[in-house]
Amino acid sequence: MKLGHLQRALRYEGGLSRRLFLSYAASLSSLPLLSRSASAAEPHEFDSDPFTCGVASGDPDHQSVVLWTRLAPKPLEPGGGMPNAPVAVDWEIAEDSSFKKVVQSGRINATPELGHSVHLEPRGLKADHWYSYRFMSGGATSPTGRTRTLPSPQSNPGKLRFAVTSCQNFEQGLFTAYRQMAVDSPDLVFHLGDYIYEYSGQNGRVRKHHGPEIETLDQYRSRYAQYRGDKDLQNMHAACPWFVTWDDHEFDNNCANDISEQRHVKPAEFLMRRANAYQAYYEMMPLRTSSLPTGPHMSLYRRGRFGRLAEFFVLDTRQYRTDQPNGDRKSPLNAAALDPRNTLLGLEQRKWLFDSLSSSSGTWNILAQQVMMALADRARPDSPAIYSMDQWPGYAHERQLLLKHLQGRRISNPVVLTGDIHSSWANELRVDDFKPEQDVVATEFVASSLASGGNGTSSTKGLDEYLARNPCTRFFNRERGYIICDVTPKTCTADYRVIDDVLKPGGKTTSRARFTVEAGTPKIHPA
Ligand code: FE
Ligand code: CA
Repeated sequence: MKLGHLQRALRYEGGLSRRLFLSYAASLSSLPLLSRSASAAEPHEFDSDPFTCGVASGDPDHQSVVLWTRLAPKPLEPGGGMPNAPVAVDWEIAEDSSFKKVVQSGRINATPELGHSVHLEPRGLKADHWYSYRFMSGGATSPTGRTRTLPSPQSNPGKLRFAVTSCQNFEQGLFTAYRQMAVDSPDLVFHLGDYIYEYSGQNGRVRKHHGPEIETLDQYRSRYAQYRGDKDLQNMHAACPWFVTWDDHEFDNNCANDISEQRHVKPAEFLMRRANAYQAYYEMMPLRTSSLPTGPHMSLYRRGRFGRLAEFFVLDTRQYRTDQPNGDRKSPLNAAALDPRNTLLGLEQRKWLFDSLSSSSGTWNILAQQVMMALADRARPDSPAIYSMDQWPGYAHERQLLLKHLQGRRISNPVVLTGDIHSSWANELRVDDFKPEQDVVATEFVASSLASGGNGTSSTKGLDEYLARNPCTRFFNRERGYIICDVTPKTCTADYRVIDDVLKPGGKTTSRARFTVEAGTPKIHPA
């Protein structure tokens, strides 16, 4: 537990009640995971399938990958329909999908403290290799998942294909696009946040959230279970490993560190809710033990390496940020937005990122993160320029530090992946995006929402004027979809896939646009 944070919360409070303090302190130590490695649990008989949330894998390196499942025969109920006791789960990882060539297997306890989730980290696997895995418990067998390790750090892979997705509001759209993503057969998926939305169920939408706005641990758990019950999402998790990171809605809209968008919510109460949100996120995602939360703190920023072809930097721009200037609203780039005390990354993550980039040996350096980095003017025609203060423009000083670091240290081919904004963009990033005469330093590919916002529009009305005002932006589109990126030592190509309908089953996915960046010259070209 980080005392500094607690003291800061207390200072904010001015006079926190002793009862609130005690319950806060209790929430910080609410993770006694230890029954996990205790003696073998009793077998459990299930009346119905316990694998309602499917399987998943994630955070691969060259010799291991996280394998995940959760036991929840009644996924929307508190406790998931499980006894308040550890339950044994058997697992296997094999060379083949019929499990004739099992390479490792074992038994682990799924514990009530972690919502009967299972996170395994089998080690000693072959580099650059595909595997099948599955789980068994009480006579039930999970779906089979496919996963892979990454190439060894010193190898020189010729190609990598990954998908970029974000923003999947269950009520606003079906997840049909994940079917095409599975057909696209990526090596891995980056999910950039808004995996769930915290809002209460609304009538008249394509589907309905279970229950009220989520605040308790059980409510966050059942929200994830509802989303993960979607077969298209579930099948995509079973198809390849994912690198996930959160944005705001995994916790609360436009949250910044311990500050709620609802100004009356006290930081200590907000941190208790955050502890629930973070714990449920850890439980439901294929994350390593190094991400296990402590109360309202969870270490999510991390690094991955695909041989010498690419390094990945998965960022967390929510947990450590200072409050948005001008109260989250769009605003000119005034003194508040340019204040050097503002930070999106927090000083520790910023130092880690800068040091990691400096030591990278990847041909491509991929920043998987949440909010748009381009200084894109979002005003209506003929209005003075305004920018989103919830995104990098609200933290323009730190944005400039990062772009200067990329330029000054000659970081090899930086590519920024972005979600959050529910539209597709391809941007050329400069230290100062208002000066098109400056050299382009990095490329930003922004994936649209997978489902949030319902059907977008393919109308191009007003786009020319918009692009003329924003010389950094080479492409902008308001349909739903995701990106497939193909990376080779020479090129990085982004294919913007869009889906024609998320409100009815059977939506068709097509390629709307393709852009290529050549290694050594970060300018964006149509492919
Ligand atoms: Fe979103
Ligand atoms: Ca968001």
